[in-house]
Amino acid sequence: MSRKRSIGIDLGTTNSCVATINDEGLPQIINNKLGHSVTPSMVSFGQSQDKHKIVTGVLAQRQAVTNPAHTLYGVKRLIGRTYNDPKVQELARSLPYAVISAPNGDAWVQARGMAISPQEISSLVLRELRETATDYFEEEVEEAIITVPAHFDNAQRKATSDAAAIAGLKVRRLLNEPTAAALGYGAHRGADKRVAVCDLGGGTFDVSIVNIEDGVIEVISSQGDLLLGGEDVDRAMMEQIILEVRREHGLDLNEDPESLQRLKADLVQAKHVLSEARSAELDLRYLGKLPSGKVLDYKRSIERAELNHWIEPFLERIDAPCLEAAVRCGIAISDVDSIVLVGGMTRMPAIQNKIASIFGRRPLKVVNPDAVSYTHLRAH
Ligand code: AMP
Repeated sequence: MSRKRSIGIDLGTTNSCVATINDEGLPQIINNKLGHSVTPSMVSFGQSQDKHKIVTGVLAQRQAVTNPAHTLYGVKRLIGRTYNDPKVQELARSLPYAVISAPNGDAWVQARGMAISPQEISSLVLRELRETATDYFEEEVEEAIITVPAHFDNAQRKATSDAAAIAGLKVRRLLNEPTAAALGYGAHRGADKRVAVCDLGGGTFDVSIVNIEDGVIEVISSQGDLLLGGEDVDRAMMEQIILEVRREHGLDLNEDPESLQRLKADLVQAKHVLSEARSAELDLRYLGKLPSGKVLDYKRSIERAELNHWIEPFLERIDAPCLEAAVRCGIAISDVDSIVLVGGMTRMPAIQNKIASIFGRRPLKVVNPDAVSYTHLRAH
């Protein structure tokens, strides 16, 4: 007799991930077809020669620079919101694809002339995660626990459940992300305390204060910045290198989407390396054709200190949501007993130092921030 399989899903702004409980009763991430633990939350609607092809995940990410107007990412920031929401308006100005108003006033997106709801886009990401789990178990998966930001209102929660339903998944529970993170660190065991969960991903920054009393976890305040994340760091790095290449070689990389795409991929890689090492190498052969007709083979070493300098304006924006989260629940920043870091960007030492200086204590070391949300499965 087949039993109903249930999975845990972190439906992230930038990346998503699916997990299960393994035979030892421990949470385990299920890798996608490419062997990656996370799958980009992206959907791309065909290049011009192949207009109707819809691809998701890594395949969509590969088109992000060459097909920007039709590659949809970060729709979690739009889901369940109205088009007139000031945050949507602000976001729309920074996105390379079109955000439009649905007949009922909801924020929708547009690709290849089609009006599409964020729920439908998210459902395509969820479908890929469901297929990842189905391949792993070799049987259908019908139920999921999905994590959502603590500050999601009813409309955003319902829209997330609707996205799951379109993907053929019944939502067993929507779990607040900071609660999942606190559970993942075992914060509910031991003494009563207040934990600040700082979640910095690709496109958003969320700070929640979680109160733990008698093993009961409660999110007592949650603040977010919808426009703060790894993308800003990527953009700062791109702008710097584009400027240098223009200055030193007279070549405008902005005119060549393929080169931009390669540069971006290498810079993101360098950013990751710089979380571990003090310097990283860029080595891009045939990056473009110089005005002289010669080919540019671009090489440059990036020091961690240089990167930290480029992103100073970004680092400064981390303060406000942290301070506001404490103010909103009426506690002093010094009343926070421990800090939990979540999200890929918190691997960056400059971010860890910044958060430590705001709270006046070192954050808990993060082993695998992407995975933390899944450890909550153990509690179910
Ligand atoms: P998430 O949405 O939590 O998956 O975070 C994605 C963001 O984290 C992207 O901007 C990644 O480039 C960034 N990221 C992932 N790993 C690292 C790392 N080791 N160092 C710096 N940034 C990282």
